[in-house]
Amino acid sequence: MSSKIFRAIFVVATVVFLSSLVMILGMSYEYFTQVEQKRLDSETALAAQGVACNGRAFLEGLETEDFRITWIASDGQVLYDSNADSSHMENHMAREEVREAFETGRGESIRYSSTLSQKQFYAARRLTDGSVLRVSIEQLAVWTLLAGLAQPIFFIVLLSLVLSFALASRLTNRIVKPINRIDPDNPIQYLGREEYRELEPLLRRITHQQAELKRDQAEIEKTSLIRQEFTANVSHELKTPLHAISGYAELIETGMVREQDIRPFAGKIRMESARLTRLVEDIIELTRLDSRSVDTVDECCDLYRIAENAVGSLESYAASAQTELTLEGKSAFVRGDPQLLHSIVYNLCDNAVKYNRPGGSVLVRVTEDAYYATLTVSDTGIGIPKECQERVFERFYRVDKSRSKDVGGTGLGLSIVKHAAALYLARIALESTPGEGSTFTVTFPK
Ligand code: ADP
Repeated sequence: MSSKIFRAIFVVATVVFLSSLVMILGMSYEYFTQVEQKRLDSETALAAQGVACNGRAFLEGLETEDFRITWIASDGQVLYDSNADSSHMENHMAREEVREAFETGRGESIRYSSTLSQKQFYAARRLTDGSVLRVSIEQLAVWTLLAGLAQPIFFIVLLSLVLSFALASRLTNRIVKPINRIDPDNPIQYLGREEYRELEPLLRRITHQQAELKRDQAEIEKTSLIRQEFTANVSHELKTPLHAISGYAELIETGMVREQDIRPFAGKIRMESARLTRLVEDIIELTRLDSRSVDTVDECCDLYRIAENAVGSLESYAASAQTELTLEGKSAFVRGDPQLLHSIVYNLCDNAVKYNRPGGSVLVRVTEDAYYATLTVSDTGIGIPKECQERVFERFYRVDKSRSKDVGGTGLGLSIVKHAAALYLARIALESTPGEGSTFTVTFPK
């Protein structure tokens, strides 16, 4: 980067130096030309007065080293010329400055020599007797002048290149040094310092990105910790039914079980494998939610129809648990994955029956207004103590472990509900009084 900055500054400085030089030279040449012309004009006026008073004698007595003086009669005939024999000179009537002087009293013109290396200035005045006096002076053309000045110009250009070089390296250093000195881990310390004024937006951006990076890092660490914990919990949870199954099987295999106890043992094996299946299903569901592959399904779903289905499939279980299961409400539409919405409703209703008491009841209600569709699942069950209400949504958290196991719980139902609801930006509210019952309310924005 520094070589690029250096090159840019060097080129700019050189171009500025050289163009200033050319402009100053051009303007000075213009200015001195004008001064020269004015001088020539006033000298012509003086000479005209001299000729008017003394005639040819005045001209012959003049020292005319730098000038050429020509006196022209009113018919254009040259009467006198300081540089040539007037008798051999052609008629001067057609010369621009002479013609102008005959017409208006004074005339001026500039003519280049055939090689363009010299310029000739002419100034002419008409005298009272009708004749015209013309004075001319030579000036070197700009090219000739420049050629003559080649050596000093070469040194000036060289000096400007050296100056540009020095300036460019100094400026590059001043720009690049503070940038290279920035500690990207702590850019905030440079804010407010003079040499970093122009870099403040960059410093602020780095600070902002650093904060974002730290946040992301913390998030990644947290997620990986949760994953590790989850994996450890999963293996533990899977091992328990597997140990039980292999234990029962081993007892039967070694003939330690009496003939009449074999059936109840088989029943236990079946129960444990059912729990294992539920556990695996719940883990798969949670993993699916974690990977967010469910995002892709977006259908218009009737929450009431979904609740009807869930209640229908739980009816026989509720009856066996002597719990009354009722559904109320009307159609309420939300967008989402019907399978996932079913999972929310099913898990809540299943818990409401599981953690109920014989003779208890569960009321499932679906309502809607202009902005929200609401699912409410209330039960008259054992309730959840205040201090556990937050934690029941955590993976594998159970208020009463043995009760959950007795009723075939996996400890994952509510975390699936929470995760799925979050995907639809739905809010979950829990009200519960131990011994009286619980109400879960899920509010879906439309
Ligand atoms: P589980 O498979 O154990 O039911 P959940 O994640 O569904 O797992 O619920 C976590 C814990 O929350 C349960 O073990 C239970 O202690 C408590 N819980 C959930 N729903 C209810 C409810 N309706 N009434 C009382 N306790 C409940």
